[in-house]
Amino acid sequence: MGNVKKNYIGGEWLASDDVSENRNPARPDEIIGHYARATNEQLNQAVAAAKAAQPAWAAATPQLRSDVLGKAAAIMMERSQELGRLLSREEGKTLAEGVGEIVRSAQIFQFYCGEALRIAGQKFDSVRPGVEAEITREPIGVVGLVTPWNFPTAIPAWKSAPALAAGNAVVLKPAELTPASAHVMTEILIEAGVPAGVFNLVMGSGSRIGQALVEHPDVAGISFTGSVPVGRGIARTCAERMKKVQLEMGGKNPLVVLDDADLDIAVNCALNGAFFSTGQKCTASSRLIVQAGIHDAFVEKLNAARAALRLGDPLDANTQIGPVVSESQLNGNLEYVALAAEEGCEVVGGERLNRDGYFQTPALFLGANNAMRSAREEIFGPCASVIKVGDFDEALAVANDTEFGLSSAICTSSLKSATTFRRQSQAGMAMVNLPTAGVDYHVPFGGRKASSLGSREQGALAMEFYTAVKTSYVFAG
Ligand code: NAP
Ligand code: MG
Repeated sequence: MGNVKKNYIGGEWLASDDVSENRNPARPDEIIGHYARATNEQLNQAVAAAKAAQPAWAAATPQLRSDVLGKAAAIMMERSQELGRLLSREEGKTLAEGVGEIVRSAQIFQFYCGEALRIAGQKFDSVRPGVEAEITREPIGVVGLVTPWNFPTAIPAWKSAPALAAGNAVVLKPAELTPASAHVMTEILIEAGVPAGVFNLVMGSGSRIGQALVEHPDVAGISFTGSVPVGRGIARTCAERMKKVQLEMGGKNPLVVLDDADLDIAVNCALNGAFFSTGQKCTASSRLIVQAGIHDAFVEKLNAARAALRLGDPLDANTQIGPVVSESQLNGNLEYVALAAEEGCEVVGGERLNRDGYFQTPALFLGANNAMRSAREEIFGPCASVIKVGDFDEALAVANDTEFGLSSAICTSSLKSATTFRRQSQAGMAMVNLPTAGVDYHVPFGGRKASSLGSREQGALAMEFYTAVKTSYVFAG
């Protein structure tokens, strides 16, 4: 087969006989490219190359690491239109969202271009005479990055950039559904001057190549973003091997709307949080918890806005909602739509469109309660349960009554309610009069409970994972 995209291992592009087809979810007949799945032997080669290259990369000046990241940022920004288009074609989010994700990824590389120069330590006088204690941070070695399909550039970027800034070598295993975005990011890092072996791309299925990466004895740490069941398995494997691990997983994020909310702000937060990017965000608002006094007006306005959303080809500038990423994800969503109806909800939307591609109308499950499976399990599609509550205390209790704890939001004009919610929300992120989705890159990102394990991603705090602390004692005589 001609022009199969290859794995990047030890500074070389390596082919394999096992090739996957990358298809456009808006037009499944359209093949975006063919991508070689790495063999297990190639995975071992990638880890060996990373292990061999890492010490020199760590010993290089921070200037070198900063320059590579800065150049990658500049190339990515310059190519944002073209790469955003590719991203939208393979994942299905709208072109504006695709280009936005590339711009964000460039900003992330730019941020860690600066952070590479700011990896600092501390120095103390010892409690013993003539002795000093120095705390330094060192790279952890070879890190394995395992990423999902829903942010196929931004998540590889927000893991790779701090990993490289700190002097680690990387082996990236992107989601099988979206190899193109990771592949072009690899090309950009090469153009930016990343040394051979310091960054490696291995494509292929999670259960084979991902699992082998997690188990590999020469991989010092795993940073994973994806589903809870896979994350739980990775945590177990890493615990047995005493490996550092960082997991970012699912959500069932609550948006609370109180009677005193600005109705337009609340409706916009719900529409954006529940349905944009086809609801395929870990931070999506999937439980709308609405106080009785505003409930009917809120539902009426939100439903009208929902029904007016324009579904279509992501590359069409008019489109607001693209397809679901795959046939199996769409079928899963539709099963939850049916379940919500069985559980007694009035379902609006949630129909498959009679056209090519994996399109479904955004859905609201009205009259839901928080005990329903459709209100407890992550769907990861454009579906949200609407749960009516009596007062703030009930809203807060329902918001926190979930195994997850990634993001949460409240719409209110009361400073007291906003402040209490912010303090009592059992989530890693709490938003006031903003959607649960939509975050900055220079501050920490992550959750609690089943949503996250380990230290935070993004911002300066990301270095907690990508560095190990050393305490040195020196007697100067
Ligand atoms: P997933 O099925 O858990 O897959 C995530 C990644 O893990 C993929 O690269 C997958 O490979 C790989 N994988 C699967 N089994 C593995 C194993 N046994 N060992 C090692 N790696 C393995 O998740 P997804 O369906 O791609 O993404 C959706 C999920 O991601 C949702 O639950 C969503 O909430 C979550 N998410 C969380 C965040 C966050 O930051 N909290 C952000 C985005 C998404 P394949 O390519 O073969 O599937
Ligand atoms: Mg998957």
